[in-house]
Amino acid sequence: MSTPGTPVIGVLALQGDVREHLIALAAADAVARPVRRPEELAEVDGLVVPGGESTTISKLAHLFGLMEPLRERVRAGMPVYGTCAGLIMLAEKILDPRSGQETIGGIDMIVRRNAFGRQNESFESAVAVDGIDGDPVEGVFIRAPWVESVGAEVEVLAEHEGHIVAVRQGNALATSFHPELTGDHRVHALFVDMVRTAQ
Ligand code: GLN
Repeated sequence: MSTPGTPVIGVLALQGDVREHLIALAAADAVARPVRRPEELAEVDGLVVPGGESTTISKLAHLFGLMEPLRERVRAGMPVYGTCAGLIMLAEKILDPRSGQETIGGIDMIVRRNAFGRQNESFESAVAVDGIDGDPVEGVFIRAPWVESVGAEVEVLAEHEGHIVAVRQGNALATSFHPELTGDHRVHALFVDMVRTAQ
């Protein structure tokens, strides 16, 4: 762990767009490093779970012996930020899981995978996110999930066409979209602040 003010933030590096998150976190004044092993997880102050394919991330997390350590740290309050497949990994429940697909949990929500449908697999849209000042964020959605419903402890931070696409519960943050692909680091800066506050 690090001295207060310079959080060390890991990016779960099993699959997905790890590099882009490392760059965005560094731009938001964190020390960023990939996490593949339980020993590496133990050394970070917060963690990003990137987009990719949630079924693959779930499988690999088991294979690398990370699923239980991840659950334990999230339960213990480690700040965590999931994008897209990472949002799915933070859900307590998936509506349409593949067989054997598991999640880390941490946010009391039910998610629908690939929710925006085939006609609209990838798109961009301006998204106003609570807690982010200034212009709306450019939301890049790639076979994105949406949040079907949330529990009482969950704050809804953004919606797109009536569907929930950003949420926060305590130290856990999740977006259906990919801020790491836009060069706008405000969502990562928000997460870095959450990690700093938790330290
Ligand atoms: N559709 C993917 C899944 O179910 C998520 C896509 C993404 O992360 N861009 O995991």
